[in-house]
Amino acid sequence: MVVVLIACAIPVVGVVAYVATRSPAEPSAQPTAGVSTKATPKASRSPARRPNPGDSQAVFQNWAQDRVQAALDVQSQALLRGDLTGYVKVIDPAKGTLVAQLRKQYASLRNMKIGAWENDLLTITATGGKEFATTWRVRVDGHPCFGATTCDLDDYSMVTTWRLADPDTALMTSLEPEDTANAPRPWEVSELIAKVGDRTVVATTKAYASLLDNVANQAEAAAKVADRLAYRGKPPTKYVIFYAGPTEWKTWYDWDPPEWSGGVTIEVGDASNIVLNGKDLQGWYIDNLLRHEMTHAATLPGGSRSRAWWLIEGIAEYADMDGASVSRYSAIEETKKFVEGTWDGKVAVSAPGDSDGDAKAAAAYGVAFLAVRHLAEKYGEQKMREFFDAVVHDHQTEAQAAPAIFGENWTTVEAGCVEFIRSSV
Ligand SMILES: [Zn+2]
Repeated sequence: MVVVLIACAIPVVGVVAYVATRSPAEPSAQPTAGVSTKATPKASRSPARRPNPGDSQAVFQNWAQDRVQAALDVQSQALLRGDLTGYVKVIDPAKGTLVAQLRKQYASLRNMKIGAWENDLLTITATGGKEFATTWRVRVDGHPCFGATTCDLDDYSMVTTWRLADPDTALMTSLEPEDTANAPRPWEVSELIAKVGDRTVVATTKAYASLLDNVANQAEAAAKVADRLAYRGKPPTKYVIFYAGPTEWKTWYDWDPPEWSGGVTIEVGDASNIVLNGKDLQGWYIDNLLRHEMTHAATLPGGSRSRAWWLIEGIAEYADMDGASVSRYSAIEETKKFVEGTWDGKVAVSAPGDSDGDAKAAAAYGVAFLAVRHLAEKYGEQKMREFFDAVVHDHQTEAQAAPAIFGENWTTVEAGCVEFIRSSV
């Protein structure tokens, strides 16, 4: 699984965002004990035969696979209908810590109005014992939907172990996120409260309960802007947003945010999760940051590997400003210094790095914002979006995409952007 992070920041100077791409994590090593077998998708085969003593281990494995799938199905059905007892019943009762962890998880998932949870078994491996007494290591992909019964695929990979309590009943004995799972997810480790609206699911810890309504209301308003800019006109079913305190900011998703980052949009399969860094936020800025991050989620479902940083962040900043006067852009001073100083006159500014100062990062953002704002004002928001899609999603160069969309060559279009940028600062 490739993990792409789109992180944005608000240093003291104001609005800065930033894109970081993590290289694909190595596939996790297979265990040395036993042979790992790709689990057969449940839809494509008939139920396993109940083994008899002396049958080959493969027969026991097929049987165990079905029992594990059945246990996971029972568990997700319990979760969806609000049955805590049923949810934890699939856990080995001797594993008190795991039971406690799953009880907490259950509460968080219910608060986020979990509407669906599918599980796909990926591999099953015998790790000890034999026949009905075998212990099994099973890699599972879970697909939660929050606030809805269908959603873009949210892919959460976990490694579980199981034993059979009796020949017909599998019990989970351990559960860990897979290395590549972008974990821990907030609902895995934190007791979350949440507010689910028409377009958004906003969750936070109890420490921030007093802010929840406000953030949720602002998220609903921000969705109107982000929805309008969505890739192919199809915004996410719900924007899933987590408001993090300082501890959560450093631990959720196991990512390493630059000191100055204020928010992040994290790819989770074909969907995105948004995390806001509560430490840096002040009331007036939350709506801006929400528009920015939610526009990433809407314009880049499943993340992006595009080199066009200026468009990715420019459109997010364009949404962030929501038509407000350019003179009110919070990083206008930093942008002015850069534009009048070392800028090379190209709109395709490169992404600031972790170690870049606030001012440098802010200025890169400013150029990207002003360029996109100009495209939208001169050619219309629809054409700007088409250009974004051609370059970011279809990987055309700016020069290839401009004539068909804007009716002008890129040199002319860029010259217009540059003139607008210079006159705006
Ligand atoms: Zn951003």
